[in-house]
Amino acid sequence: MRPQSLFHIRDSKLLNATFFLTPAEYETLRLIAHSSSPKEVCGLIGIIPLAQGDFRIRLYHTRNGSDVKNKFKINSSDLKKALTKAAKEGAGIAGCFHSHPRGLAKLSGTDRSAARKSRLRLWLVYAISVNKTGLYLTGRVCKTLRLSVRY
Ligand SMILES: [Zn+2]
Repeated sequence: MRPQSLFHIRDSKLLNATFFLTPAEYETLRLIAHSSSPKEVCGLIGIIPLAQGDFRIRLYHTRNGSDVKNKFKINSSDLKKALTKAAKEGAGIAGCFHSHPRGLAKLSGTDRSAARKSRLRLWLVYAISVNKTGLYLTGRVCKTLRLSVRY
């Protein structure tokens, strides 16, 4: 996958930032993840810079093109739609999200290896069974980012 727009931001800036997700978007993610379970849901993450170095996160849902359990694959026609929508909203595509029907809101070994091969550096995981969300900066070392659900 080659996203059209990637924000080139230093890791230190990302690690010091808070990423805000609106309660409405969080609720949508939660509902779709629950209703699609045991299949994973997925999509792209767009980020919009805010004051004081923080970011607004936008979630662009796509169909999961994988039929394999515990896997996701962003549907390619949905990918184009998501990129267009993000561009209209002034969001830079910086990552992807998916759900974990079972397990924790942490990246699995498969996730980490996919992240290393991908240019999408922000990975968000919503874990259905524990109702938790984790946001990570991937790379050689995977680091937790600060996520806040509010306007
Ligand atoms: Zn995963």
